Amino acid sequence: MMAKRVKTILPDLTFEEALEITKIYSISGNMKDNFLITKRPFRSPHHTISANALIGGGKIPKPGEISLSHSGVLFLDELPEFNRNVLEVLRGPLEDKYVHISRVGASITYPCNFMLVASMNPCPCGYFGSKEKPCKCTEFQIKNYINKISGPILDRIDIQVQVSNIKHNNCYNNYSEKSKDIKERVNNARKIQNERYKKFNIFCNSELNVKFLNEFCKLDNTSNMILQSAAEKMNLSSRGYSKVLKVARTIADLEISKEIKEDHIIEALQYRSFENE
Ligand SMILES: [Zn+2]
Repeated sequence: MMAKRVKTILPDLTFEEALEITKIYSISGNMKDNFLITKRPFRSPHHTISANALIGGGKIPKPGEISLSHSGVLFLDELPEFNRNVLEVLRGPLEDKYVHISRVGASITYPCNFMLVASMNPCPCGYFGSKEKPCKCTEFQIKNYINKISGPILDRIDIQVQVSNIKHNNCYNNYSEKSKDIKERVNNARKIQNERYKKFNIFCNSELNVKFLNEFCKLDNTSNMILQSAAEKMNLSSRGYSKVLKVARTIADLEISKEIKEDHIIEALQYRSFENE
């Protein structure tokens, strides 16, 4: 349910983004009418999807789900149910934000700058660690299930959180902030980033390379020490390390804080929950 709500808090589309999405949908023959698409796409392909349908293909290569999700969300529900080979083809596009498809007839490059949102159970039966029911899975089954998601794929996911089951009526009562208000904060943070990076031809924190990380994600001594020791303990890869910095930068932006503070780093580290295990 949370995954499906992500689209309600994403920043507004720019005109350029709307044009790009419309072009992709037009090429793929997915246009319902001839109007400009003004909403961010949300795609949730079934776990039986083939690698070709996901990244694109065909005699004259057509955009796959990753390009149809461009500037929007690709939601993979029950991630371990997807064929492992299918998930592995995501590695390149997740990094490059474009996909190059070569076939005998033609070779084409499509953009695919999407937000990957994925969900999985803690084990095949779904009750590992739950207070509600005992888990029926063996240790081997659980390991097998989790191992379906390779380290490199997990490493490319910026935010990983474990959530426990909640009763249905609690979902509605305890929730205080509305999508509309969160979206306002997101739009604001996006504006701050656009402004900060306008000289460098990048738009948001996720696009920061190593040089820019050093410039825009400076930490004070205490925050730096926290990050260094956590990185060592969690065995963070250099990719994971830079992702923590970028997420901390985004948390700071959402709070309209110029500096990345201790709390921001600590919060960002908590979002690598699989490495915390
Ligand atoms: Zn289980």
